[in-house]
Amino acid sequence: MSKKIVYPGSFDPVTNGHLDIVERAANIFDEVIVSVFCNPNKEPVFTMEERVKMLKKATNKYENVKVDSFSGLTTKYVNSVGGEAILRGLRAVSDFEGEFQMASMNKHLDDEIETIFLMTDTKYAFLSSSVIKEAAYFDGNIKELVPDFVYQMLRNKFVENNKG
Ligand code: ADP
Repeated sequence: MSKKIVYPGSFDPVTNGHLDIVERAANIFDEVIVSVFCNPNKEPVFTMEERVKMLKKATNKYENVKVDSFSGLTTKYVNSVGGEAILRGLRAVSDFEGEFQMASMNKHLDDEIETIFLMTDTKYAFLSSSVIKEAAYFDGNIKELVPDFVYQMLRNKFVENNKG
């Protein structure tokens, strides 16, 4: 049977750190579904449609990677797409507590779904969507940290809009 894993997240916007996790997972699992989570508690910079579009463009070179979106419980969503596991990335010790809590809760909700963690590549250990947005807002050099078209979209959102 083919092994399907779901990589949920905000991806606001997708960074090269996320993409490194996607590429490595795509080499291990038969199918990776990257799914944008609609979080009612967060005010995103990019709309759901923009984030899905960005992820599709950034992952279209991988045959076994699909992009989707969802709201509600992750475990329910994973079941609805026939997934076996949830994929998350770990950057630093600071990620551990929240991820441990979430993985334990998800296990409680559905003990057939495992959470699998991939360690960040150390060169992306400091990278998050939040620091990208902060740097882009002040026109910092983030070119090597996100795909080119994401860089352009960030500029359109922040830099070009602030002119004049
Ligand atoms: P969420 O709001 O669900 O945390 P994010 O888009 O911030 O959504 O992150 C999605 C997942 O990707 C999380 O598991 C996060 O730890 C992981 N991640 C984010 N940035 C990196 C990175 N630079 N390297 C590895 N994993 C990362």
